[in-house]
Amino acid sequence: MKRIVVLGGGESGVGSAVLAKVKGFDVFLSDSGKIAGKYVEMLEKWGIPYEQGGHTEELVLNADEVIKSPGIPSAAPMVEKISRAGIGIISEIEFAGRYDKAKKICITGSNGKTTTTSLIYYLLQNAGLNVGLGGNIGKSYALQVATENFDIYVLELSSFQLDNMYDFKADIAIITNITPDHLDRYDHNLENYVRAKFRITRNMDSDDCFIFCSDDEITINHLNKIIVKAKQLPFTQKGEVSEGAFVKDDKMIVRYKDSEYDMYIQELALGGKHNVYNSMAAAIAGKVMNIDNAVIRESLSSFQAVEHRLENVLSVRDVLYINDSKATNVDAAWYALECQTRPVVWIVGGTDKGNDYAPLVPLAKEKVRAMICMGLDNGKFHKSFKDVVPEIRDVTSADAAVKLASELAEPGDVVLLSPCCASFDLFKNYEDRGRQFKEAVRNL
Ligand code: ADP
Repeated sequence: MKRIVVLGGGESGVGSAVLAKVKGFDVFLSDSGKIAGKYVEMLEKWGIPYEQGGHTEELVLNADEVIKSPGIPSAAPMVEKISRAGIGIISEIEFAGRYDKAKKICITGSNGKTTTTSLIYYLLQNAGLNVGLGGNIGKSYALQVATENFDIYVLELSSFQLDNMYDFKADIAIITNITPDHLDRYDHNLENYVRAKFRITRNMDSDDCFIFCSDDEITINHLNKIIVKAKQLPFTQKGEVSEGAFVKDDKMIVRYKDSEYDMYIQELALGGKHNVYNSMAAAIAGKVMNIDNAVIRESLSSFQAVEHRLENVLSVRDVLYINDSKATNVDAAWYALECQTRPVVWIVGGTDKGNDYAPLVPLAKEKVRAMICMGLDNGKFHKSFKDVVPEIRDVTSADAAVKLASELAEPGDVVLLSPCCASFDLFKNYEDRGRQFKEAVRNL
């Protein structure tokens, strides 16, 4: 019997192990850390042998194939040993794709993945289709392939999930945009990161569609260097395209084959220029899937923002508090500032990933009344913004940040948490940061 070893006991790993079990493999799961209670229960329920707190080499290196969870870097010592032993390493997505006949709409990019994925899922559900949601979001794709029977999947894929993908094929692939992020996992080489993202187009043929942002220089430069067989459907806010989506006279226009769809930007449920891009990508996918224009319109105008993404929390004494905790890089924060029409008290800070704040300086100069740096090391923020923002203060908790913001803000202002940084210095993760922020706002 073929032996499959799964590295990592989180959502992705446990889902893969269940699928391997269902397909009759000899399965073993190994995690170098502690496996959360919920996943231990699942492994036991399915009768899957596992270990935690370290890898036993003899139990791993006898695998015929290894499924690596996306959180484990390829430079991890055990992964290097597996490679040296000549054992094939694949991702959850590659493995699950082998057993899945459903149509697959796959979304990657540096920013906007979750929003675009959720929008498309919502659209297809509204159209009455039997659709599943997975990948980097919600339930593991592999687990669903093992236990559900969907006709279509909408999958959010991070670049880590695209690594170790070989024969997987998307029917519709979307790259929302590419900006430098996570370069630490790609030898600080942008090209490696870009190539990882473009793996989403692997194996596609002329019946498939590739949707991308033609305003994104990094995407276009790479696209000019490679051959993508899929039909190319760009979206842009600069100029017109014969197929794809563009903006004209305050309208978003989508063209696919002989059919056209348009909608006023103002009707879109999600505000901001970045969400015009996300909505265009979703609308193109909708047209390719042959969804009625009325359903596309209804969906794009009624979609509720995903938590922690420019989420309006509350207005207190005529100051609007916005939670954009998921803005963990400079580009996301740029779009958050760009769409503000009122003076901003801006809460930033956290773990710096080698950020360059220069692109934010003009927007900060124009819109930001005060900055509150919520992090252990705020030096770079002070240095970058001291000449353009009149007031820059430091805090070390969400509570203190919100209290100070409420003192600095004037009626009519916006308090925006859009931190440009990861959250790990003061919080468990970005969700924890966002929730603590919201809690503090509710306590004002
Ligand atoms: P991802 O899943 O790629 O991290 P999200 O949809 O969760 O993307 O959004 C992450 C952050 O990026 C949020 O702050 C959001 O407001 C911002 N954002 C969303 N879409 C875009 C886009 N197309 N371009 C730039 N920033 C975006």
